[in-house]
Amino acid sequence: MPEMHPDSQHIIEENREFTMFSWSVQNQANPIHMTGGKGSHFFDGSGNAWLDMASQLVSINVGHQHPKILQAIKDQVDTMCFAGPGFATDVRAELGRKLSEVTGLAKSFFTLGGSEANENAMKMARLYTGRPKIITRYRSYHGATMGSMTASGDPRRWPVEPGVPGIVRVFDPYMYRPPLGMTAEQWEEGCISHIEEVIQMEGPHTIAAIMVEGITGSNGVLVPPDSYYPRLRALCDKYSILLITDEVMSGFGRTGTWLATQHYGIKPDIVTCAKGLTSGYMPLGAVIVNDKIADYFETHFLAGGLTYSGHPVSLAAAIANIKVYEEENIFEHVRELGVHLGQRLEAMKRKFACVGDVRYIGLFSVLELVKDKATKEPLAPFNGTSPEMGKLAAHLKSKHIYAMLRFNWAFVCPPLVITKEELDHGLDMYEEALALVDQMIL
Ligand code: PLP
Repeated sequence: MPEMHPDSQHIIEENREFTMFSWSVQNQANPIHMTGGKGSHFFDGSGNAWLDMASQLVSINVGHQHPKILQAIKDQVDTMCFAGPGFATDVRAELGRKLSEVTGLAKSFFTLGGSEANENAMKMARLYTGRPKIITRYRSYHGATMGSMTASGDPRRWPVEPGVPGIVRVFDPYMYRPPLGMTAEQWEEGCISHIEEVIQMEGPHTIAAIMVEGITGSNGVLVPPDSYYPRLRALCDKYSILLITDEVMSGFGRTGTWLATQHYGIKPDIVTCAKGLTSGYMPLGAVIVNDKIADYFETHFLAGGLTYSGHPVSLAAAIANIKVYEEENIFEHVRELGVHLGQRLEAMKRKFACVGDVRYIGLFSVLELVKDKATKEPLAPFNGTSPEMGKLAAHLKSKHIYAMLRFNWAFVCPPLVITKEELDHGLDMYEEALALVDQMIL
């Protein structure tokens, strides 16, 4: 239960004085002092419980402080806290076997998180194919290290431009705002033929892989049309280009399946994951490759790995987390509650002038907010904010609802264990905030 911390303000001040916060102008960082959590809530130093509708950057899938994962971490610490990356360990065998089983792929290479997983996926694709370029999409985020930041299409890449060479970007399956003046129907057809044209202009023999998020996350939960993945898979096969899916955010139950691409009946060549792999309890990512790539590295040097790769405590946390998913039927809960979430979002779209579009799959969803439904003018500019988005944020904060907001998007990505009552309460608070926004735009 939340308790008052005797020195909360001082802790915040010291955090700001002696440490730097990510993705922040430092003198604008305004962190909450987090002191604990339970299930779908976390606690702050003033004794408040916050409903976590963002799951700590869409990570804490099984909720805060799940006892089974805490116990597994403690047990592993007691047995063996650390082994260097070149050693065989029990947990490495168990997690590797399990990841092959749930993805249908062959082998895992462990990393410390999502960015590093994507770095290694791109490196492996280049080594395996002998080709230099990677195609990514504009509305994507693949991480904050140099290569994955360059691979990202969204404005977070701008500070490192020109970044690493060899990234070519294409447009996304953003059906609410199709590019090139197309209608959604035209773009459903055009979004793959456009990629094929780019491949031909770049030279198919120069392209190692196409890397896409399983479902685009922080760029607006872009659920693709059903035809997208089968056609993308076929395109990759036609030109012997690898398909890498970044399931860092969309994987491990977020959409109700292990991998988002399992909804579409296709198999990627390489999958990257992190976040929901351990529910954030310990840092871990993985690059999971198909049998052909695994075979290639049987006889070719795999140049990569860090001191902490395959850290036993992280692997133990992942094993326990996956057992929780299975033993507590969490993906089934996501699929059921996801239907309810979708119905509520659709109702919000009908009810509020500022809700232009809603997109959802499982417990992965977003409200796209506009000033005018007819013109689709965004409620905040791309890469910017607005008084209306500020109002929405302030209201949710005042109700201790922790939400992920970005540009003109309000995300709804709660822990996968959230109850229907908790979710409804959170959505009621979003509705109160949307009513205030409507007052500003009407
Ligand atoms: N890929 C996607 C789709 C992500 O959403 C993120 C982080 O939000 C990353 C990669 C980077 O992962 P990490 O922050 O663990 O390096």
